[in-house]
Amino acid sequence: MASDSAAATVDGSALAGRALAAAGARHMFGVVGIPVTSLASRAAAAGVRFLAFRNEQSAGYAAAAYGFLTGTPGLLLTVSGPGCVHGLAGLSHATANAWPLLMVSGSCAQADAGRGDFQELDQIEATKPFAKLAVKATTIADIPRLVFQALAATVSGRPGGCYLDIPSDVLHQTLPESEAAALLAAAAADSTASASSPPKHKTLDGGIEKAADLLRRAERPLVVIGKGAAYARSEEALRKLVDTTGVPFLPTPMGKGVVPDAHPLSATAARSLAIGQCDVALVVGARLNWLLHFGEPPKWSKDVKFILVDVCEDEIELRKPHVGIVGDAKRVVELINKEIKDNPFCLSRSHPWVESITKKAKDNVLKMEAQLAKDVVPLNFLTPLRIIRDAILAEGSPAPVVVSEGANTMDVGRAVLVQNEPRTRLDAGTWGTMGVGLGYCIAAAVAEPERLVVAVEGDSGYGFSAMEVETLVRYQLPVVVIVFNNNGVYGGDRRSPDEITGPYKDDPAPTSFVPAAGYHKMMEAFGGKGYLVETPDELKSALSESFRARKPAVINVIIDPYAGSESGRMQHKN
Ligand code: ADP
Repeated sequence: MASDSAAATVDGSALAGRALAAAGARHMFGVVGIPVTSLASRAAAAGVRFLAFRNEQSAGYAAAAYGFLTGTPGLLLTVSGPGCVHGLAGLSHATANAWPLLMVSGSCAQADAGRGDFQELDQIEATKPFAKLAVKATTIADIPRLVFQALAATVSGRPGGCYLDIPSDVLHQTLPESEAAALLAAAAADSTASASSPPKHKTLDGGIEKAADLLRRAERPLVVIGKGAAYARSEEALRKLVDTTGVPFLPTPMGKGVVPDAHPLSATAARSLAIGQCDVALVVGARLNWLLHFGEPPKWSKDVKFILVDVCEDEIELRKPHVGIVGDAKRVVELINKEIKDNPFCLSRSHPWVESITKKAKDNVLKMEAQLAKDVVPLNFLTPLRIIRDAILAEGSPAPVVVSEGANTMDVGRAVLVQNEPRTRLDAGTWGTMGVGLGYCIAAAVAEPERLVVAVEGDSGYGFSAMEVETLVRYQLPVVVIVFNNNGVYGGDRRSPDEITGPYKDDPAPTSFVPAAGYHKMMEAFGGKGYLVETPDELKSALSESFRARKPAVINVIIDPYAGSESGRMQHKN
């Protein structure tokens, strides 16, 4: 064997696969074709499982969610030109959400670039606006170093997307095995030497002490938990902070579960009161962007003092909070806990602020439960969501990962579905991206194999990437996709008569789809299980059977097209 390996050569595809494996990658999502087919199988041979998708867009969303769920970069592989363009969806989505992703694309041969080659595109220029780093291997020897460098860049500072371009001629170049092994070893050694230790905290205005002191002296303190805190795995530290101080907490949609929704200090059901009246808000891993009403009146009090904890210094510079702490959320909250331990305080449950939040939350929950308790047929949004919530809760721990998208389906679902474990909710995120659902499902199933994955999808969101049900079946993933079928975007044709005029008035409404479409049959077409559901009992039975089976299933739930509202809770923006 020794003489074999002495004579053996390694091509660019094999070297890229080995470099990815050596850098710790375990999964890669993508679509193969010229010139990356060999790269996918070489990576798999080296130990990086390749999940082959039907469209790069979904594969990109999968890679983005994988980055969030695992804290390690999700890998996206695309072909050149149009494949790269499709991949931009996932790359940009990852960067917008601050999730680590490395997109690797093949590109046309360097000698033919600029001459109209097959699928030619300047992919570095195309990816730059969406990537923290965009680099090209111009020779095979570049590959190991750039793989390590680009992967490290995805997770350094604020996590995000990076891009690695490997032209087809580089993929086909070869090196002697011994040289390849030396390059891999050198890249690994360099990356260990330059690996940044966890970011040190840095206070821009005061310190950890100041943050603890502000919380201690606040009359109406609040902890806001964002998806950055979930990504940082700060659940233990935040739970401790809430438990020891008695301060109510409010999670953002994907911050749900970091501290359990069932915790008595959850302010989720008293959100308007909590953000409208708090005087000090400790915001951990969440941007004061549209999701948090920019931290401004009228939703927030004009006098609120923000303590922002974020790994990204620019974010803190942008928001100019009362106290800014740059650092890893887990580490910073641990330091705040330590500071509080030395000079403890705790709001009792009868503290006026805590009591007002808990009372408001309880009243709102009771009102919501009264609505949820009704079995409304034809089905509205609330009845099926209650049944789905109860089925998910009955699964216990480890809790299923819930994937959610759509307008009403996602908005109402966020209020009804319960997250008691961190990183068990994935949704349209910072960009409000629709079409993410099926990709997320595949990522969650491979990243969290012990958990069931349950997608609660509007029919529009589902339709963006519904072909990936074939991918679910091919890999036999434990994913149950529930489609809320109300005949279109926001519920099909809701036009007023004055909108139905002109030469194309007989066309279907821009918002409508084929009524009562047989989405479950798409799953059956590939050998998965499909259910058509119109009543509460049919839904209960479909959930119970599909959750038990842990096999790919689509449950097509027919919803009253007049239930729900246009644009969900975003009507003011439409
Ligand atoms: P949400 O949508 O939940 O409000 P955002 O995506 O707006 O959350 O904000 C997440 C923030 O978390 C980003 O500003 C990002 O820089 C930050 N972040 C990412 N990783 C960490 C970490 N390890 N520690 C602290 N903050 C982090």
